[in-house]
Amino acid sequence: MKKMKRDRVPVIEDTLGLNLAKLQATAKKAGSDTLAITWQGTTGLVILEPERMVLAFGGVTVSANIRSVPCLNGRLRPLLKCSRAHVGNFQTLYLRGGELACRQCHGLRYRSTLAAGPVERARLARFKLVDRMGGLPVDGIPARVPRVWRKRYLVMLRLLAKHMGACHDRQVTPA
Ligand SMILES: [Zn+2]
Repeated sequence: MKKMKRDRVPVIEDTLGLNLAKLQATAKKAGSDTLAITWQGTTGLVILEPERMVLAFGGVTVSANIRSVPCLNGRLRPLLKCSRAHVGNFQTLYLRGGELACRQCHGLRYRSTLAAGPVERARLARFKLVDRMGGLPVDGIPARVPRVWRKRYLVMLRLLAKHMGACHDRQVTPA
């Protein structure tokens, strides 16, 4: 039951996202404002107009306005306006249900934050940590990589112990 519920939550990794900065860089490199994009076996088109981005994909055509937002260094940064009327401009908008909108409006979540409960979250965190420490998830506790500072390694070890503890506690007292 829980698994089914989780599958219905839209996940960012399974959604077509359009990152304006990346698209503009690609367009500049290609010398064309019209770009072909392929996502999960379907090819579509992105057209970058001066004040608008148009996407034609999978039978729908949607667009988003481009706003030039001043940044701290005094330069203007182009950002996308979400199709739903609310404050805020975004670097990336997502296509879902025929609508191009921001992550918040679509209710998109990262798969890694969808973990069912504290045990699953601890397990994911432990995997990530072991990976960052240069080990494989089956290795147990990775040895300190020579270029890593001792203090940083100790901090990681302590974190790892905490995540392992969360799993252990749960196994001993099943809820
Ligand atoms: Zn939005």
